Amino acid sequence: MINYPERLNLAQTPTPFYPLERLSKQLGGPRIWIKRDDLTGAATSGNKVRKLEFLLAEALAKGCDTLITSGGVQSNHCRSVALLGAQLGLKVHLLLRADIEPKPVGNLLLDQLAGATISHYSLDEYRGLNKLFNQWQEHYAALGRKAYAIPTGGSNGTGMWGYIAAAEELSQDFQRHAISPAAIVHATGSAGTQAGLMLGCQLHQINTQVKAYAVCDNAEYFTRKVRGDLEQWQSHYSPQTDISGLVADTSDEYIGPAYGVAGEEVFECIKEVAALEGILLDPVYTGKAFFGMIEDIKKGKFSQWDGDDIVFVHTGGLFGLFAQQHRLGY
Ligand SMILES: *Cc1c(COP(=O)(O)O)cnc(C)c1O
Repeated sequence: MINYPERLNLAQTPTPFYPLERLSKQLGGPRIWIKRDDLTGAATSGNKVRKLEFLLAEALAKGCDTLITSGGVQSNHCRSVALLGAQLGLKVHLLLRADIEPKPVGNLLLDQLAGATISHYSLDEYRGLNKLFNQWQEHYAALGRKAYAIPTGGSNGTGMWGYIAAAEELSQDFQRHAISPAAIVHATGSAGTQAGLMLGCQLHQINTQVKAYAVCDNAEYFTRKVRGDLEQWQSHYSPQTDISGLVADTSDEYIGPAYGVAGEEVFECIKEVAALEGILLDPVYTGKAFFGMIEDIKKGKFSQWDGDDIVFVHTGGLFGLFAQQHRLGY
């Protein structure tokens, strides 16, 4: 029995789980299943909501009335925090890295609609992110408020619980369909989904390979970040759990030009999957990971693991697609 910490009911779960029959047939390889974590909500959709169920429970338990978090201009995580903060009656302050011009479209538009306070920082200023968090926390303390800081992507030992719980949900999906997938595939950016799924599979005794596709940074970065988050989880919640066997498996081959910037092949993949399966991928995360998975299936990389089934966790990101609609060429 796993002892989950306090949790708010914010995500629409369990999310749907089913095979992509047409795509699998077209590829002629393993059967590809999809876990629809893009359906955890309407505007609050995506993987961040699962983490925020635990993070925001902790914020409320600590008596906080303000949330501070950070990310890129089109951060899905920041948008989820902005909307959930409004839902819970909390003030939200977003520290956004000016990685692109801050046009009020996609996620940023929703941040504004949700009434979040937004500070934009140059790439240079953003390097001092920890200091910015401290300064704003002190600023709110001086106003008699109590601010809860959520790290970028909600990825830490607490947010990780969201994907430990998701792994439990997946184990029920697998039982229901009587499958034992060779791999669980997903996009990784701040590593909380990755660390949570890896640990969740161990805790729920799911015998599979968690295979992450990076959308920024290299594989070594994710090895370190996953390890750090796992150690934080262990020291906070479960010193008796052995995490020594958990080693991140990250592909950094499909990042493309930069974080948030995808090549033509990713947009082609997005169009193909939308038309063939009615699934909308995004150019920042899921499109890159899905494209990488298909390339690697074609190269035979998944045949090293036993099993005829592969699971793709759709982590959301729809509003990021609308922010880049000019790239679709219609
Ligand atoms: C944040 C995000 C990811 C990556 O999840 P991390 O836990 O930050 O690694 C993947 N897909 C989408 C759509 C996201 O918004």
